[in-house]
Amino acid sequence: EAQTTDILRLEDVTKQFGNVTAVDNLSFSVSEREILGFIGPNGAGKSTTFDCVSGTMAPTDGEIYYRGENVTGVPQHALVEKGIARTYQTFRPLNDRTVLENIALSQMPNSLFSFADFRADTEQRAREICEQVGLGDVVDQTPDELPHAGMLRLEIGRALGTDPDLLLVDEPFAGLTSDEIDRTADLFTSLREGGMTLVVIDHNMHGLLDLVDRVIVISFGEKIAEGTPAEIRDDPTVQEAYLGG
Ligand code: ADP
Ligand code: MG
Repeated sequence: EAQTTDILRLEDVTKQFGNVTAVDNLSFSVSEREILGFIGPNGAGKSTTFDCVSGTMAPTDGEIYYRGENVTGVPQHALVEKGIARTYQTFRPLNDRTVLENIALSQMPNSLFSFADFRADTEQRAREICEQVGLGDVVDQTPDELPHAGMLRLEIGRALGTDPDLLLVDEPFAGLTSDEIDRTADLFTSLREGGMTLVVIDHNMHGLLDLVDRVIVISFGEKIAEGTPAEIRDDPTVQEAYLGG
């Protein structure tokens, strides 16, 4: 109902695991076609926030709105249909399938993984995604043959298979060289140029601040800073959260 161009809005979202408050009254918005950086030290609650937004788990409290619709607690498969996709920090591709098949099968999350479903348009779209994420030359390899950077891009490709409008990417730069970071950042920029909105998690600021429009910083589940990359870079509260943890 709200008059807003926000694609995503969190209102006082809390997620508790027993005594642990992983996400603590967190509120923020994401604008259409924005690239938002979502950073914080390890254990700050970044992945848990993605879990709540993507429907992997329901928040304990608070509301999540997607394009103005309250989607709190809506299961993941329904949110995928609405256009929300995510990557996982730890993931297990199908190692008995090729790169191409892994991406093709991601377009059919409800299929029985039967090749009867492997239609020509699915394969064509999977080839396009492989090219887009830089795996065009290794479509016939299996995931375990890929270098680390290739594995991370395969996970992004699997998320792209569901044709998202909002892509949540969990630590896509982990363990990458600066050249590989630049390449992944270029991919995100081109996805945004194609109309996508992205939220990108990183546990530090390397690589991220050059890419994003805006940054949210969380620590112990709470938002401690929000602003442009320049504002965040010089924010003493942010530096303290990283050094003091
Ligand atoms: P980040 O992604 O910022 O490193 P997480 O969201 O993974 O942080 O974790 C935030 C906190 O919640 C941590 O203390 C973590 O141990 C806890 N946590 C995360 N997932 C679970 C879970 N499934 N069960 C219990 N505790 C969890
Ligand atoms: Mg995490």
